Amino acid sequence: MQVYLNGEFIPAEQAVVPVNDRGFLFADGVYEVARVYDGRVFKMPEHLRRLADGLAAIRIELPDIEGLTGIAEHLLDENRLRSGGATVYIQVTRGVAPRKHAFPQGVEPTVFLAVNPYAEPPLEYWTDGVAAIRYPDIRWARCDIKSVSLLANVLANEAAHAAGGFEALFVRDGVVIEGSHSNFAAVYDGTVVTYPLCNFILPGITRASVLGLARDLGIPVREGPVYDHELFGAAELFLLGTTTEVMPIVRVDGRAIGNGRPGPVTQRLIEAYRELARG
Ligand code: PMP
Repeated sequence: MQVYLNGEFIPAEQAVVPVNDRGFLFADGVYEVARVYDGRVFKMPEHLRRLADGLAAIRIELPDIEGLTGIAEHLLDENRLRSGGATVYIQVTRGVAPRKHAFPQGVEPTVFLAVNPYAEPPLEYWTDGVAAIRYPDIRWARCDIKSVSLLANVLANEAAHAAGGFEALFVRDGVVIEGSHSNFAAVYDGTVVTYPLCNFILPGITRASVLGLARDLGIPVREGPVYDHELFGAAELFLLGTTTEVMPIVRVDGRAIGNGRPGPVTQRLIEAYRELARG
């Protein structure tokens, strides 16, 4: 596989960063994952806008963010990923400098891009739904920044997998706010309820697309809290994410949601999103 690192297209095995890279030492950087459907990168401008917002939030200057599109396209050609599914991974760190917390001066950011074939999860995840667990939200208070500091997400997702589930749902102050690598929504009386954008969740590209689709379909949407104590009263629950797409949750901590099958609102949104993404 060819990857891009700091201005060069090189084989992945040769792509190495110094141990003093601040991404390695401090997780001082941000990343993006975009989905490629049959060779086309889906929602690249939206991913780059979020990347720009994240870089601005942590004050890393990267002049040519738009130029990353051309790099991703080049990698898709070089790696012959113009058919089937793939992902684009982008990571930018503050760069390489001796280990001191405060920002180093005169340092170029480290810029890394890779494309990878994407092996889709089994179709049953969407047709039958998946299991989730609840997990305390032990993350920091800037979850709107797509930071490479993902330890809390890793621990939460590992706990979900250890319990035979797909996703961990973070609970903060009695509210189920998002998943370890996805946004989250519930359906009450036909209305989709999802946590409002703020510093406690990632502004998901899929979340934005699907809320738009729901409005187009006349499905009511409310951006508000899904309380932990009301979770099992929901008719439907689902996840939202670039690789997850719209995925039904049919069990949480071993207890069924609704009748234990994907519900009608989720199914309509799964179809509408597939149509949008895959055409
Ligand atoms: N929340 C978190 C914590 C995530 O890691 C992700 C996946 N990037 C999402 C939400 C979904 O975001 P998107 O739809 O942009 O992939």
